[in-house]
Amino acid sequence: MKPLVYLTMNVPEEVEKYIAQYCQIRKWDQEETIPRERLLAEIGEAEGLLTTGGRIDDELFDHAPKLKVVSNVSVGYNNFDLEAMKRRKIIGTHTPGVLDETVADLAFALMLAAARRVPELDKMVKAGQWKNTNDRSFFGVDVHGKRLGIIGMGRIGEAIARRARFGFNMDVLYYNRNRKPDAEQRLEATYCTLEELLRQADFVVLVVPLTPETRHLMGREQFALMKRTAIFVNVSRGKNVDEQALIEALQQGQILAAGLDVFAEEPTPADNPLLQMDNVVTLPHIGSATAETRAAMAMLAAKNLVAGVTGQVPEHIVPELR
Ligand code: NAP
Repeated sequence: MKPLVYLTMNVPEEVEKYIAQYCQIRKWDQEETIPRERLLAEIGEAEGLLTTGGRIDDELFDHAPKLKVVSNVSVGYNNFDLEAMKRRKIIGTHTPGVLDETVADLAFALMLAAARRVPELDKMVKAGQWKNTNDRSFFGVDVHGKRLGIIGMGRIGEAIARRARFGFNMDVLYYNRNRKPDAEQRLEATYCTLEELLRQADFVVLVVPLTPETRHLMGREQFALMKRTAIFVNVSRGKNVDEQALIEALQQGQILAAGLDVFAEEPTPADNPLLQMDNVVTLPHIGSATAETRAAMAMLAAKNLVAGVTGQVPEHIVPELR
């Protein structure tokens, strides 16, 4: 008998066909996220789970005694309780690599949109308030030729650095847990401390994973170090930022603007003050959300899932569980 796997989301037809060659499939096919209670009720017989975002912890494992593998359709895996997974010998996988260029594109979209005030001016034009273009109130700031600080020079950080250096002629600084001499050479990037980066950069892009060490990496102290003319972009996870400190930094003019793909709580509450600010560009966590990249991620996650339930070693087990 083929092992049973549970999918908490719709995947492209060819991905489902691939999984069906090796597994019996049960799935949640609604657009909204599967309610926790429903997931717990559904996974009793499942040996594999393909999912994104929901908490993977002891409570879930208690409801899924046959579970062998959890395959995340994302590169981030802060939803994994790694200790519980180690203890229970559950394989946890993710989808690194296939989304780097797409997320880097989005980081640039946010940098450009915030610097050139794209959403704000778009709204103005559509409201019939087109003014003389010599009006200084239209002016933004340049991106090309400026200094970019990348916090987290990993796969996505490198893709951002390459665009910045060779596409936009930017001076690239980076801060990372480990220094990366090879990336410095290839990308003409300069390593510095977090403090130096924040003091010097015109654009700061945050792209570290969410871990106990990176939670609130950007707080009051860090925003206070940034230039008053600087723009902050977050494409990592919302909880890497103390959101109240960001709100205050923007309200007090400590920084110029922000571009945010991610929030401390998602969906972010409608009364979040960030949503009222013209100098903040907001997106609903769509870093990897292009049709091509989401299909590639789903296929990679499917391969990890199938490997995990058929006794092979999946290619993309998260580092802490290898
Ligand atoms: P990655 O290749 O693992 O890169 C992460 C980098 O962060 C690594 O260079 C790592 O340093 C560094 N880092 C980790 N902990 C650190 C710390 N405490 N201080 C300083 N640097 C630290 O991951 P990736 O594929 O680039 O993805 C990065 C993150 O982006 C993901 O974890 C995810 O949260 C987020 N993401 C968001 C979206 C979105 O939709 N917005 C899409 C994809 C990814 P080492 O070299 O020392 O390991």
